[in-house]
Amino acid sequence: MTLIVGVRYLLSSGGFALATRLRHPGLYAGLGPQMRREIAWSLASAAIYGIPAGVVAWGWQAHGWTRIYDDIGAFPLWYLPVSVLLYLLAHDAWFYWTHRWMHRPRWFRIAHAVHHASRPPTAWAAMAFHPVEALTGAVVIPALVFVIPIHVGALALVLTIMTVMGVTNHMGWEIFPRFLWNGPLGRWLITASHHQRHHDRYRCNYGLYFRFWDHLCGTDAGVGGFAAPREPHPRRYATEPK
Ligand SMILES: [Zn+2]
Ligand SMILES: [Zn+2]
Repeated sequence: MTLIVGVRYLLSSGGFALATRLRHPGLYAGLGPQMRREIAWSLASAAIYGIPAGVVAWGWQAHGWTRIYDDIGAFPLWYLPVSVLLYLLAHDAWFYWTHRWMHRPRWFRIAHAVHHASRPPTAWAAMAFHPVEALTGAVVIPALVFVIPIHVGALALVLTIMTVMGVTNHMGWEIFPRFLWNGPLGRWLITASHHQRHHDRYRCNYGLYFRFWDHLCGTDAGVGGFAAPREPHPRRYATEPK
């Protein structure tokens, strides 16, 4: 499973890095050392993500653990999109609160400074996490499959959304059409324009897929542009820069 997660990361981040090179040549100029660091941390995270995923996949296949089903008729068809939404909402809530926790000074230093060393982030930063942060992310889906029933195809869709949004949110440019992130729908959805501002300003825009928690808790700072970062030479901060 670690191998699958690692290869999935290399293909998805590599694919979007290539798209960046074609669409915005020079955007990652001078970020070579940072990108190498992002890849190293991401592959370490892939190893961590693979462990609970592997145990659960084995338990599902060998022992019938989990509430993953493959008989499409086991639940009504309307439940397919509902289950996907439930997974995204649950993951988003977990991410928001663990992310805020990791912005407390002590935990930022320990667990989250690695991710914020990407200034500005690139497509390779999708899984650039300290092992502690990787662990908080790795347990979510493996835990949810014990609680919320989901068709194996819907689960594949959830994992695809997770992968694509993880990469595109860090890519340094907006791949989605303007109406999606700048219109009424954009008030509730998170794309690169929202997460880039988190990497610029730190103490805002903590969400993963939806802006619901940020709105509710007053931490939403709106969507930003993609101006040059304040810090021209990426380096790792032990605390949040003022
Ligand atoms: Zn990020
Ligand atoms: Zn953060």
